[in-house]
Amino acid sequence: MEKIEFVDLKAQGFVIGHDIKRAIDRVVSHGRFIMGPEVHELEEKLSRFTKAEYVISCSSGTDALLMMLMAMGIGPGDAVFTSPFTFIATAEVISLLGAVPVFVDIDAATFNIDPVKLEQEIEKVKKESRLTPKAVIPVDIFGLPAEYVAITEIAAKYDLKVIGDAAQSLGAQIGDKKACTMAHAASTSFYPAKPLGCYGDGGAIFTNDSSLKEKLISIRSHGKGDHKYNNVRLGINGRMDTLQAAIVIQKLKIFKNELGKREKIAQKYKKRLHGLVEFQKIPHQYTTTWAQFSFVSKERSKIMAKLEAGKIPCVIYYPKPLHLQEAFFRLKYKNGDFPVAENIGDTILSIPMHPYLGDDQIDFITDTIKLALQ
Ligand SMILES: *Cc1c(COP(=O)(O)O)cnc(C)c1O
Repeated sequence: MEKIEFVDLKAQGFVIGHDIKRAIDRVVSHGRFIMGPEVHELEEKLSRFTKAEYVISCSSGTDALLMMLMAMGIGPGDAVFTSPFTFIATAEVISLLGAVPVFVDIDAATFNIDPVKLEQEIEKVKKESRLTPKAVIPVDIFGLPAEYVAITEIAAKYDLKVIGDAAQSLGAQIGDKKACTMAHAASTSFYPAKPLGCYGDGGAIFTNDSSLKEKLISIRSHGKGDHKYNNVRLGINGRMDTLQAAIVIQKLKIFKNELGKREKIAQKYKKRLHGLVEFQKIPHQYTTTWAQFSFVSKERSKIMAKLEAGKIPCVIYYPKPLHLQEAFFRLKYKNGDFPVAENIGDTILSIPMHPYLGDDQIDFITDTIKLALQ
């Protein structure tokens, strides 16, 4: 049996590595390393893939979130609602712009933001009238789209923008609607370990709003106007490297196939571990990218010990919810504020997930978990 990797980029290299090397060579020969032709080609291909009208590639999933908030003019005095059960980037960008992240507890079954609690938190902020509710950032955790229909209704009622953090969910769907197209604007990430990763940092923003698109293109290049040295607003250096775009174009060719493989592996995991641990609920009509295959168990430490003894990698996403992170101490949250997120953080575990896991490896992983639970 091959050594089990948490995410196996080497195995993917056997499938597509040759094409990627040739694509890199082409970029090296034409030499247009910044905003070269591959950048535009990737944006077009992603627009076709998601059916989003506009795609703005950028330097990372984090910068994508930052740029969307900047383009919407969010800043001091504004409240932005989001999940405490996510990677820090989601809330970090809110604080970096001087706005305040307001956390909303998650649903115990989907691990995504709970729409009922969202409305309660919005009402609370309105009553306190210290901050202006401006936007909500639902996160599609582990690749499962958030409840966008319910969230969009609530957002409309309170005049909030919906900004999707689809860093993990590009390729997922609700019905025939693709992830990244369910919000006013949404972002994804091409960080290497994401389902569609590059060989470094990269990201993209998706929207149907043409004036927002114009602002994002400007912000991506230091707030440029009609000319690079005519700066009409503050921006950042938020461009995606041509080399990274060329790599994502190649990987996009096998992406659908890889998503199918991930789904099959997830179903095998579920079958073999049925009744032993609790899985993330995938609601009817929803599909996920299985960016992580995670389950909840009160016996987590026992399972981890056995996996580690068997040299099977496993990771806790996310051990400490954002409201308890030192970086957010000044928001004055405390233990017990978001019991669902805290409880999931205490019991969740992610096991290896990538399209190239073999049946023998899946068996070994699930047998090891079963052994731990005996
Ligand atoms: C990975 C990730 C990000 C950040 O993306 P980068 O490309 O690493 O900056 C943001 N939000 C979530 C939910 C993520 O998983």
